[in-house]
Amino acid sequence: MSESPDCLFCKIINGEIPSKKVYEDDSVFAFEDINPVAPIHILIVPKKHIATLNELEDEDTELTGKIVQTAKMIAADKGINEEGYRLIFNCQEKAGQTVFHIHLHILGGRTFGWPPG
Ligand code: AMP
Ligand code: ZN
Repeated sequence: MSESPDCLFCKIINGEIPSKKVYEDDSVFAFEDINPVAPIHILIVPKKHIATLNELEDEDTELTGKIVQTAKMIAADKGINEEGYRLIFNCQEKAGQTVFHIHLHILGGRTFGWPPG
């Protein structure tokens, strides 16, 4: 699977940096956020290194669907699917992206405001 040598999340996927793994299959990896902003805060990343949503290619359409389907599965597994949860992709600095390997945040276990800050 394509890795980027200096990427934090590539290192988490390959085990070089430890994480609290929630789920893994051949195309995605999910783990607990190290600095949670909600009682449940899990990140889902593709194993393929993609820096931002802007770098998605047509061939990644199935993979992006897979990421959302994985979020649905984890939300059900964590028991937050009925009460509700929030999914967030931050794209680029102004939106709050700090790690440049795309990741879907699953946030749950509390009430969220709208619009986000
Ligand atoms: P973003 O700001 O959308 O790029 O999200 C990056 C997320 O990665 C933040 O919520 C961080 O708390 C989280 N994070 C950074 N380093 C680690 C790590 N080593 N293990 C787990 N989560 C991390
Ligand atoms: Zn990466």
